[in-house]
Amino acid sequence: MTHHAYVIGSPIVHSISPSIHNAAFAALGIDARYEAIEVLPAQLADWVRSKRSEDTLGFNVTLPHKIAVREQLDAVEGDGDLAGAVNTVVAQTVDGATRLIGANTDTVGFRRLLADEGGVHLGGQDVLLLGAGGGARAVALDALQDGAAHLWIANRHVERAWTLLTDLASASGRTQTDALPLQDGRARNLLERASIVINATSVGLASDECPIELAGIRPGSLAVDLIYNPAETAFLREARQRGARVLGGLGMLVYQAAAAFERWTGTEAPVRVMRMAAEFALAERGRR
Ligand code: NDP
Repeated sequence: MTHHAYVIGSPIVHSISPSIHNAAFAALGIDARYEAIEVLPAQLADWVRSKRSEDTLGFNVTLPHKIAVREQLDAVEGDGDLAGAVNTVVAQTVDGATRLIGANTDTVGFRRLLADEGGVHLGGQDVLLLGAGGGARAVALDALQDGAAHLWIANRHVERAWTLLTDLASASGRTQTDALPLQDGRARNLLERASIVINATSVGLASDECPIELAGIRPGSLAVDLIYNPAETAFLREARQRGARVLGGLGMLVYQAAAAFERWTGTEAPVRVMRMAAEFALAERGRR
């Protein structure tokens, strides 16, 4: 039996996840196929129901379903539950009945990006997080779980940053937290204190714009952008020009995919193959 995995979202046509996962299945000789499926909010419940079958390994979830999908699942575990956002669903069939379990592998992906590519751990860091959407939820949870000294969340709609901090209160520990508007002098002033600044807004994805004026960024601090295409956003370019170290989001995409792959197959993910497939898919896209 050929098994199936998917990524659902809207829009989904630009996803490179099929290239990453199909390369991994091929490298390990696993008889499985991964497809990107356009699913509108009104179609979500029916689509999820249709995947309760023995040949489903699971699926990834992206915009705009990361929060809404929880209602369609049998359980949400670990970071998926704590972050309130699901990016991976694991299908488990026992005696003909398929249970769907939600998880969040963005948290693992971000942590591994910092550790493997930046040599950095969030413990004790002063973290300025720009954005309060689904990606920011995973980053904020990592910062709280790993014991950051401070976590400041700056978002265009500041009430969304407060909601995020309220939702994650149970993970807070000793981290001092605050929320503030993105376009505010206080956010710019915090650039001088932050040891890590993370762009988890979508600013820079479709335009060469930076979400915040970076004049005050600390030389030697680390700037991370969750965006992976373009590889160097305006945020990363300006941070680098001001003496910060920089990391793009491609590693996070690959590591979250590897964690999902391992949940679905019970097999160690071929991370190097997945990384090469991701880089190849982006280069192909750039040539079109
Ligand atoms: P969401 O739609 O959930 O959140 C978008 C965020 O961007 C919100 O904080 C929103 O602010 C902010 N934003 C959007 N437009 C503007 C604007 N014009 N000015 C200021 N702020 C703005 O998206 P996600 O969190 O899922 O994704 C955010 C980015 O992170 C995307 O580029 C995505 O590709 C990337 N990402 C990468 C991952 C990876 O594996 N590398 C994983 C997850 C995400 P507001 O709340 O005020 O609207």
